[in-house]
Amino acid sequence: MFNFDFYNPTQILFGQGQIAAITPLVPAGARVLMLYGGGSIKRNGVYDEVKAALSGHTVIEFAGIEPNPHYETLMKAVDIVKAENIDFLLAVGGGSVIDGTKFVAAAAQHDGDPWLILEKGGKTITSALPFGAVLTLPATGSEMNAASVITRAATQQKRAFMHRAVFPKFSVLDPSKTFTLPLRQVGNGVVDAFVHTMEQYMTYPVDAPLQDRWAEGILQTLVEQGPRTLAEPENLDVRANIMWCATMALNGIIGVGVPQDWATHMIGHELTALYGLDHAQTLAVVLPGILGVRRDAKRAKLLQYAARVWNITEGGEDERIAQAIERTRGFFEQMGVKTRLSDYGLDGGAIDAVVARLVEHRMVKLGEHRDVDADASRAALELSR
Ligand code: NAP
Ligand code: FE
Repeated sequence: MFNFDFYNPTQILFGQGQIAAITPLVPAGARVLMLYGGGSIKRNGVYDEVKAALSGHTVIEFAGIEPNPHYETLMKAVDIVKAENIDFLLAVGGGSVIDGTKFVAAAAQHDGDPWLILEKGGKTITSALPFGAVLTLPATGSEMNAASVITRAATQQKRAFMHRAVFPKFSVLDPSKTFTLPLRQVGNGVVDAFVHTMEQYMTYPVDAPLQDRWAEGILQTLVEQGPRTLAEPENLDVRANIMWCATMALNGIIGVGVPQDWATHMIGHELTALYGLDHAQTLAVVLPGILGVRRDAKRAKLLQYAARVWNITEGGEDERIAQAIERTRGFFEQMGVKTRLSDYGLDGGAIDAVVARLVEHRMVKLGEHRDVDADASRAALELSR
Protein backbone atom coordinates (compact mmCIF):
# COMPACT_ATOMS: atom_id res chain seq x y z
CA MET A 1 0.00 0.00 0.00
CA PHE A 2 1.20 3.54 -0.70
CA ASN A 3 1.53 6.16 2.03
CA PHE A 4 -1.51 8.38 2.20
CA ASP A 5 -2.94 11.51 3.78
CA PHE A 6 -6.70 11.13 4.13
CA TYR A 7 -8.79 14.19 4.86
CA ASN A 8 -12.55 14.52 4.57
CA PRO A 9 -14.27 17.15 6.70
CA THR A 10 -17.77 17.04 5.14
CA GLN A 11 -20.61 16.49 7.59
CA ILE A 12 -23.29 14.19 6.15
CA LEU A 13 -26.94 14.54 7.13
CA PHE A 14 -28.57 11.42 5.76
CA GLY A 15 -32.25 10.51 5.54
CA GLN A 16 -35.76 11.72 5.01
CA GLY A 17 -36.54 15.14 6.48
CA GLN A 18 -32.92 16.16 6.98
CA ILE A 19 -33.13 19.40 4.98
CA ALA A 20 -34.65 21.06 8.06
CA ALA A 21 -31.48 20.24 9.99
CA ILE A 22 -29.33 22.69 8.00
CA THR A 23 -30.68 25.76 9.83
CA PRO A 24 -28.01 25.83 12.56
CA LEU A 25 -25.25 24.81 10.12
CA VAL A 26 -25.50 27.98 8.04
CA PRO A 27 -23.72 30.70 10.03
CA ALA A 28 -26.11 33.13 11.74
CA GLY A 29 -26.19 36.46 9.94
CA ALA A 30 -24.62 35.06 6.79
CA ARG A 31 -25.67 36.42 3.42
CA VAL A 32 -26.42 33.23 1.53
CA LEU A 33 -26.40 32.58 -2.21
CA MET A 34 -28.57 29.54 -3.03
CA LEU A 35 -27.52 27.98 -6.35
CA TYR A 36 -29.61 25.54 -8.33
CA GLY A 37 -30.29 24.17 -11.78
CA GLY A 38 -33.15 24.23 -14.24
CA GLY A 39 -36.02 23.99 -11.79
CA SER A 40 -36.42 20.33 -10.76
CA ILE A 41 -36.16 21.48 -7.13
CA LYS A 42 -39.28 23.60 -7.53
CA ARG A 43 -41.28 20.61 -8.75
CA ASN A 44 -40.35 18.17 -5.98
CA GLY A 45 -40.61 20.31 -2.86
CA VAL A 46 -36.87 20.62 -2.23
CA TYR A 47 -36.91 24.36 -2.95
CA ASP A 48 -39.67 25.02 -0.41
CA GLU A 49 -37.98 22.92 2.28
CA VAL A 50 -34.66 24.70 1.78
CA LYS A 51 -36.29 28.13 1.86
CA ALA A 52 -38.09 27.20 5.07
CA ALA A 53 -34.84 26.02 6.66
CA LEU A 54 -33.16 29.30 5.69
CA SER A 55 -36.05 31.56 6.65
CA GLY A 56 -33.94 33.33 9.28
CA HIS A 57 -31.19 34.16 6.77
CA THR A 58 -30.78 36.63 3.94
CA VAL A 59 -30.99 34.48 0.82
CA ILE A 60 -30.29 35.48 -2.77
CA GLU A 61 -30.88 32.94 -5.53
CA PHE A 62 -28.90 31.95 -8.59
CA ALA A 63 -30.82 29.59 -10.89
CA GLY A 64 -29.97 28.02 -14.20
CA ILE A 65 -26.78 26.04 -13.63
CA GLU A 66 -26.93 23.60 -16.53
CA PRO A 67 -25.85 19.92 -16.64
CA ASN A 68 -22.09 19.87 -17.32
CA PRO A 69 -21.99 23.36 -15.81
CA HIS A 70 -20.64 26.19 -17.89
CA TYR A 71 -17.81 28.46 -16.84
CA GLU A 72 -19.65 31.32 -18.52
CA THR A 73 -22.78 30.79 -16.39
CA LEU A 74 -20.82 30.39 -13.18
CA MET A 75 -18.90 33.62 -13.71
CA LYS A 76 -22.25 35.43 -13.53
CA ALA A 77 -22.74 33.89 -10.07
CA VAL A 78 -19.24 35.06 -9.09
CA ASP A 79 -20.26 38.61 -10.02
CA ILE A 80 -23.33 38.34 -7.77
CA VAL A 81 -21.25 36.98 -4.89
CA LYS A 82 -19.00 40.03 -5.12
CA ALA A 83 -21.77 42.59 -5.67
CA GLU A 84 -23.93 41.25 -2.86
CA ASN A 85 -21.18 40.52 -0.32
CA ILE A 86 -22.20 36.89 -0.10
CA ASP A 87 -20.44 34.90 2.60
CA PHE A 88 -22.01 31.43 2.35
CA LEU A 89 -23.10 29.35 -0.66
CA LEU A 90 -25.72 26.61 -0.72
CA ALA A 91 -25.80 24.22 -3.68
CA VAL A 92 -29.18 22.53 -4.21
CA GLY A 93 -29.20 19.91 -6.95
CA GLY A 94 -27.09 17.23 -8.63
CA GLY A 95 -23.38 17.00 -9.30
CA SER A 96 -23.49 19.84 -11.81
CA VAL A 97 -24.88 22.32 -9.29
CA ILE A 98 -22.47 21.19 -6.57
CA ASP A 99 -19.47 21.25 -8.93
CA GLY A 100 -20.54 24.68 -10.16
CA THR A 101 -20.84 25.96 -6.60
CA LYS A 102 -17.32 24.72 -5.85
CA PHE A 103 -16.04 26.75 -8.77
CA VAL A 104 -17.95 29.85 -7.66
CA ALA A 105 -16.61 29.41 -4.11
CA ALA A 106 -13.03 29.29 -5.34
CA ALA A 107 -13.33 31.89 -8.13
CA ALA A 108 -14.85 34.46 -5.75
CA GLN A 109 -11.61 34.47 -3.76
CA HIS A 110 -9.14 33.87 -6.59
CA ASP A 111 -6.42 36.31 -7.63
CA GLY A 112 -6.01 36.65 -11.38
CA ASP A 113 -7.85 34.96 -14.24
CA PRO A 114 -10.35 32.44 -12.80
CA TRP A 115 -9.90 30.15 -15.81
CA LEU A 116 -6.48 29.36 -14.29
CA ILE A 117 -8.36 27.38 -11.63
CA LEU A 118 -9.31 24.92 -14.35
CA GLU A 119 -6.19 25.21 -16.46
CA LYS A 120 -4.01 24.41 -13.44
CA GLY A 121 -6.36 21.83 -11.91
CA GLY A 122 -6.86 23.82 -8.69
CA LYS A 123 -3.21 24.62 -7.94
CA THR A 124 -3.80 28.38 -8.01
CA ILE A 125 -6.52 28.22 -5.32
CA THR A 126 -5.58 29.51 -1.89
CA SER A 127 -9.00 29.80 -0.27
CA ALA A 128 -12.71 29.48 -1.06
CA LEU A 129 -16.03 30.65 0.33
CA PRO A 130 -17.65 28.10 2.64
CA PHE A 131 -20.63 26.23 1.23
CA GLY A 132 -23.07 23.42 1.94
CA ALA A 133 -25.03 21.14 -0.39
CA VAL A 134 -28.45 19.54 -0.65
CA LEU A 135 -28.04 16.59 -3.03
CA THR A 136 -30.90 15.56 -5.31
CA LEU A 137 -29.14 13.11 -7.64
CA PRO A 138 -26.90 10.30 -6.39
CA ALA A 139 -24.03 9.85 -8.85
CA THR A 140 -20.94 11.99 -8.66
CA GLY A 141 -19.83 11.92 -5.03
CA SER A 142 -19.32 15.69 -5.36
CA GLU A 143 -21.35 16.09 -2.15
CA MET A 144 -18.45 14.64 -0.15
CA ASN A 145 -15.34 15.35 -2.18
CA ALA A 146 -13.15 18.24 -3.24
CA ALA A 147 -13.38 17.78 -7.01
CA SER A 148 -15.29 19.72 -9.65
CA VAL A 149 -15.70 19.45 -13.42
CA ILE A 150 -16.52 22.58 -15.45
CA THR A 151 -17.07 23.14 -19.17
CA ARG A 152 -16.04 26.26 -21.05
CA ALA A 153 -18.77 26.37 -23.67
CA ALA A 154 -16.94 28.80 -25.95
CA THR A 155 -14.05 26.38 -26.51
CA GLN A 156 -15.76 23.05 -25.71
CA GLN A 157 -13.22 22.33 -22.97
CA LYS A 158 -14.28 20.18 -20.03
CA ARG A 159 -11.75 20.46 -17.22
CA ALA A 160 -11.52 19.28 -13.62
CA PHE A 161 -9.99 20.85 -10.53
CA MET A 162 -9.44 19.71 -6.97
CA HIS A 163 -8.63 21.57 -3.78
CA ARG A 164 -9.18 20.92 -0.10
CA ALA A 165 -10.80 24.34 0.26
CA VAL A 166 -13.81 23.12 -1.75
CA PHE A 167 -15.05 20.27 0.43
CA PRO A 168 -18.67 21.05 1.32
CA LYS A 169 -19.06 21.98 5.00
CA PHE A 170 -22.12 19.73 5.06
CA SER A 171 -24.28 17.79 2.63
CA VAL A 172 -27.88 16.65 3.01
CA LEU A 173 -28.64 13.28 1.44
CA ASP A 174 -32.40 12.72 1.54
CA PRO A 175 -33.16 9.68 -0.63
CA SER A 176 -36.87 10.56 -0.85
CA LYS A 177 -35.83 13.58 -2.95
CA THR A 178 -34.63 11.22 -5.69
CA PHE A 179 -38.12 9.82 -6.42
CA THR A 180 -38.69 12.50 -9.06
CA LEU A 181 -35.57 11.64 -11.04
CA PRO A 182 -36.22 10.57 -14.62
CA LEU A 183 -35.15 6.92 -15.08
CA ARG A 184 -32.39 8.11 -17.40
CA GLN A 185 -30.78 10.01 -14.51
CA VAL A 186 -31.27 7.07 -12.13
CA GLY A 187 -29.40 4.83 -14.57
CA ASN A 188 -26.75 7.48 -15.18
CA GLY A 189 -26.13 7.82 -11.45
CA VAL A 190 -25.64 4.11 -10.90
CA VAL A 191 -23.25 3.88 -13.85
CA ASP A 192 -21.22 6.92 -12.71
CA ALA A 193 -20.86 5.50 -9.19
CA PHE A 194 -19.90 2.10 -10.60
CA VAL A 195 -17.23 3.59 -12.84
CA HIS A 196 -15.85 5.80 -10.04
CA THR A 197 -15.35 2.64 -8.05
CA MET A 198 -13.69 0.88 -10.99
CA GLU A 199 -11.29 3.80 -11.58
CA GLN A 200 -9.88 3.23 -8.09
CA TYR A 201 -10.23 -0.56 -7.90
CA MET A 202 -9.33 -1.91 -11.35
CA THR A 203 -5.67 -0.99 -11.02
CA TYR A 204 -2.39 -2.77 -10.37
CA PRO A 205 -0.22 -3.66 -8.60
CA VAL A 206 -1.94 -3.36 -5.25
CA ASP A 207 -1.71 -5.13 -1.97
CA ALA A 208 -4.65 -3.41 -0.34
CA PRO A 209 -7.24 -6.07 0.41
CA LEU A 210 -9.39 -3.80 2.57
CA GLN A 211 -9.71 -1.16 -0.17
CA ASP A 212 -10.43 -3.98 -2.63
CA ARG A 213 -13.23 -5.35 -0.50
CA TRP A 214 -14.71 -1.92 0.14
CA ALA A 215 -14.76 -1.36 -3.62
CA GLU A 216 -16.18 -4.81 -4.32
CA GLY A 217 -18.87 -4.15 -1.71
CA ILE A 218 -19.92 -0.99 -3.53
CA LEU A 219 -19.85 -2.70 -6.94
CA GLN A 220 -21.89 -5.67 -5.70
CA THR A 221 -24.40 -3.40 -3.99
CA LEU A 222 -24.86 -1.35 -7.16
CA VAL A 223 -25.29 -4.52 -9.22
CA GLU A 224 -27.94 -5.72 -6.76
CA GLN A 225 -29.75 -2.45 -6.00
CA GLY A 226 -29.43 -0.73 -9.39
CA PRO A 227 -31.95 -2.91 -11.23
CA ARG A 228 -34.17 -2.93 -8.13
CA THR A 229 -34.46 0.84 -8.19
CA LEU A 230 -35.75 0.60 -11.78
CA ALA A 231 -38.17 -2.22 -10.87
CA GLU A 232 -39.35 -0.65 -7.58
CA PRO A 233 -38.94 3.08 -8.13
CA GLU A 234 -40.95 3.93 -4.99
CA ASN A 235 -38.76 1.86 -2.66
CA LEU A 236 -37.08 4.31 -0.25
CA ASP A 237 -34.61 1.76 1.13
CA VAL A 238 -33.32 0.97 -2.32
CA ARG A 239 -32.97 4.70 -3.06
CA ALA A 240 -31.10 5.15 0.21
CA ASN A 241 -28.69 2.33 -0.55
CA ILE A 242 -27.92 3.69 -4.01
CA MET A 243 -27.40 7.16 -2.60
CA TRP A 244 -24.92 5.99 0.01
CA CYS A 245 -23.08 3.84 -2.54
CA ALA A 246 -22.59 6.84 -4.83
CA THR A 247 -21.20 8.94 -2.00
CA MET A 248 -18.89 6.19 -0.76
CA ALA A 249 -17.63 5.55 -4.28
CA LEU A 250 -15.94 8.93 -4.50
CA ASN A 251 -15.39 10.40 -1.06
CA GLY A 252 -11.78 9.27 -1.03
CA ILE A 253 -12.02 6.25 1.24
CA ILE A 254 -11.73 3.45 -1.32
CA GLY A 255 -8.93 5.32 -3.10
CA VAL A 256 -6.52 5.69 -0.20
CA GLY A 257 -3.12 4.08 -0.67
CA VAL A 258 -3.90 2.59 -4.10
CA PRO A 259 -3.07 3.59 -7.69
CA GLN A 260 -5.94 5.27 -9.58
CA ASP A 261 -6.76 5.01 -13.25
CA TRP A 262 -9.28 7.70 -14.46
CA ALA A 263 -8.56 7.10 -18.17
CA THR A 264 -12.25 6.32 -18.74
CA HIS A 265 -13.29 9.66 -17.26
CA MET A 266 -10.69 11.65 -19.21
CA ILE A 267 -11.73 10.12 -22.53
CA GLY A 268 -15.39 10.47 -21.56
CA HIS A 269 -15.01 14.19 -20.85
CA GLU A 270 -13.96 14.74 -24.48
CA LEU A 271 -17.04 12.86 -25.71
CA THR A 272 -19.30 15.09 -23.61
CA ALA A 273 -17.50 18.28 -24.64
CA LEU A 274 -17.69 17.40 -28.36
CA TYR A 275 -21.05 15.65 -28.67
CA GLY A 276 -23.03 16.49 -25.51
CA LEU A 277 -23.46 12.91 -24.29
CA ASP A 278 -24.42 12.62 -20.62
CA HIS A 279 -21.39 12.02 -18.41
CA ALA A 280 -22.49 8.48 -17.56
CA GLN A 281 -23.25 7.64 -21.19
CA THR A 282 -19.62 8.37 -22.05
CA LEU A 283 -18.41 6.16 -19.22
CA ALA A 284 -20.66 3.28 -20.30
CA VAL A 285 -19.11 3.48 -23.76
CA VAL A 286 -15.49 3.90 -22.71
CA LEU A 287 -15.07 1.57 -19.72
CA PRO A 288 -15.78 -1.74 -21.52
CA GLY A 289 -13.37 -0.64 -24.26
CA ILE A 290 -10.64 0.35 -21.82
CA LEU A 291 -10.97 -2.97 -19.97
CA GLY A 292 -10.67 -4.77 -23.29
CA VAL A 293 -7.53 -2.87 -24.26
CA ARG A 294 -5.96 -3.22 -20.80
CA ARG A 295 -6.93 -6.86 -20.27
CA ASP A 296 -3.35 -8.16 -20.15
CA ALA A 297 -1.96 -5.41 -17.93
CA LYS A 298 -4.92 -5.69 -15.55
CA ARG A 299 -5.21 -9.48 -15.84
CA ALA A 300 -4.93 -10.47 -12.18
CA LYS A 301 -7.34 -7.75 -11.06
CA LEU A 302 -9.81 -8.56 -13.83
CA LEU A 303 -9.82 -12.19 -12.71
CA GLN A 304 -10.45 -11.10 -9.12
CA TYR A 305 -13.24 -8.81 -10.34
CA ALA A 306 -14.76 -11.63 -12.40
CA ALA A 307 -14.78 -13.97 -9.42
CA ARG A 308 -15.79 -11.63 -6.62
CA VAL A 309 -18.20 -9.23 -8.32
CA TRP A 310 -19.70 -11.48 -11.02
CA ASN A 311 -19.15 -14.91 -9.51
CA ILE A 312 -17.42 -16.12 -12.68
CA THR A 313 -15.13 -18.98 -11.70
CA GLU A 314 -15.45 -21.48 -14.57
CA GLY A 315 -13.41 -21.50 -17.78
CA GLY A 316 -9.96 -20.33 -18.80
CA GLU A 317 -8.56 -16.97 -17.78
CA ASP A 318 -9.24 -15.20 -21.06
CA GLU A 319 -12.77 -16.50 -21.12
CA ARG A 320 -13.47 -15.36 -17.54
CA ILE A 321 -12.11 -11.90 -18.30
CA ALA A 322 -14.17 -11.64 -21.50
CA GLN A 323 -17.26 -12.68 -19.56
CA ALA A 324 -16.62 -10.13 -16.82
CA ILE A 325 -16.30 -7.34 -19.40
CA GLU A 326 -19.49 -8.50 -21.11
CA ARG A 327 -21.35 -8.61 -17.79
CA THR A 328 -20.17 -5.05 -17.09
CA ARG A 329 -21.47 -3.88 -20.46
CA GLY A 330 -24.71 -5.80 -19.90
CA PHE A 331 -25.19 -4.18 -16.49
CA PHE A 332 -24.90 -0.68 -17.96
CA GLU A 333 -27.41 -1.62 -20.66
CA GLN A 334 -29.71 -3.06 -17.99
CA MET A 335 -29.55 0.32 -16.25
CA GLY A 336 -30.74 1.87 -19.51
CA VAL A 337 -27.38 3.38 -20.46
CA LYS A 338 -26.26 2.41 -23.96
CA THR A 339 -22.65 1.30 -24.40
CA ARG A 340 -21.91 1.69 -28.13
CA LEU A 341 -20.91 4.86 -29.96
CA SER A 342 -23.36 3.88 -32.69
CA ASP A 343 -26.19 4.00 -30.11
CA TYR A 344 -25.52 7.76 -29.92
CA GLY A 345 -25.25 8.20 -33.69
CA LEU A 346 -21.44 8.41 -33.59
CA ASP A 347 -19.04 6.66 -35.97
CA GLY A 348 -15.32 6.45 -36.75
CA GLY A 349 -15.23 10.19 -37.39
CA ALA A 350 -16.08 10.76 -33.73
CA ILE A 351 -13.23 8.46 -32.69
CA ASP A 352 -10.81 10.54 -34.79
CA ALA A 353 -12.16 13.74 -33.26
CA VAL A 354 -11.96 12.49 -29.66
CA VAL A 355 -8.40 11.21 -30.16
CA ALA A 356 -7.38 14.54 -31.73
CA ARG A 357 -8.81 16.35 -28.70
CA LEU A 358 -6.96 14.03 -26.30
CA VAL A 359 -3.70 14.83 -28.12
CA GLU A 360 -4.47 18.56 -28.13
CA HIS A 361 -5.20 18.46 -24.38
CA ARG A 362 -2.09 16.38 -23.70
CA MET A 363 -4.23 13.50 -22.39
CA VAL A 364 -1.89 10.95 -23.92
CA LYS A 365 -0.41 9.42 -20.78
CA LEU A 366 -3.52 8.18 -19.03
CA GLY A 367 -4.16 5.36 -16.61
CA GLU A 368 -2.52 4.39 -13.33
CA HIS A 369 0.83 3.82 -15.08
CA ARG A 370 0.51 6.69 -17.58
CA ASP A 371 0.72 4.16 -20.41
CA VAL A 372 -2.66 4.70 -22.06
CA ASP A 373 -1.56 6.72 -25.08
CA ALA A 374 -3.59 8.04 -27.99
CA ASP A 375 -3.45 4.68 -29.79
CA ALA A 376 -4.75 2.84 -26.72
CA SER A 377 -7.58 5.37 -26.34
CA ARG A 378 -8.42 4.89 -30.01
CA ALA A 379 -8.42 1.10 -29.60
CA ALA A 380 -10.72 1.38 -26.56
CA LEU A 381 -13.21 3.49 -28.52
CA GLU A 382 -13.00 1.06 -31.47
CA LEU A 383 -14.04 -1.78 -29.13
CA SER A 384 -17.23 0.16 -28.33
CA ARG A 385 -18.11 1.35 -31.83
P1 NAP B 1 -26.64 16.78 -13.14
O1 NAP B 1 -26.00 17.28 -14.40
O2 NAP B 1 -26.38 17.51 -11.89
O3 NAP B 1 -28.23 16.72 -13.33
C1 NAP B 1 -28.80 16.10 -14.46
C2 NAP B 1 -30.26 16.43 -14.59
O4 NAP B 1 -30.99 15.83 -13.51
C3 NAP B 1 -30.57 17.92 -14.55
O5 NAP B 1 -31.34 18.19 -15.68
C4 NAP B 1 -31.36 18.12 -13.25
O6 NAP B 1 -32.40 19.06 -13.41
C5 NAP B 1 -31.96 16.76 -13.04
N1 NAP B 1 -32.26 16.45 -11.63
C6 NAP B 1 -31.39 16.50 -10.57
N2 NAP B 1 -32.01 16.08 -9.45
C7 NAP B 1 -33.29 15.79 -9.81
C8 NAP B 1 -34.42 15.29 -9.07
N3 NAP B 1 -34.34 14.96 -7.77
N4 NAP B 1 -35.58 15.13 -9.76
C9 NAP B 1 -35.65 15.41 -11.08
N5 NAP B 1 -34.63 15.85 -11.82
C10 NAP B 1 -33.45 16.04 -11.18
O7 NAP B 1 -26.24 15.25 -13.01
P2 NAP B 1 -25.06 14.55 -12.22
O8 NAP B 1 -24.89 13.24 -12.88
O9 NAP B 1 -25.27 14.58 -10.77
O10 NAP B 1 -23.78 15.46 -12.53
C11 NAP B 1 -23.02 15.32 -13.72
C12 NAP B 1 -21.85 16.27 -13.68
O11 NAP B 1 -20.97 15.93 -12.59
C13 NAP B 1 -21.00 16.19 -14.94
O12 NAP B 1 -20.57 17.48 -15.30
C14 NAP B 1 -19.82 15.34 -14.51
O13 NAP B 1 -18.67 15.56 -15.29
C15 NAP B 1 -19.64 15.78 -13.09
N6 NAP B 1 -18.91 14.84 -12.21
C16 NAP B 1 -18.31 15.34 -11.09
C17 NAP B 1 -17.60 14.52 -10.22
C18 NAP B 1 -16.95 15.06 -8.98
O14 NAP B 1 -16.23 14.34 -8.30
N7 NAP B 1 -17.16 16.31 -8.65
C19 NAP B 1 -17.52 13.14 -10.49
C20 NAP B 1 -18.15 12.65 -11.63
C21 NAP B 1 -18.85 13.50 -12.47
P3 NAP B 1 -32.34 20.55 -12.82
O15 NAP B 1 -31.22 21.24 -13.50
O16 NAP B 1 -33.67 21.08 -13.18
O17 NAP B 1 -32.16 20.45 -11.34
FE1 FE C 1 -17.93 10.57 -12.95
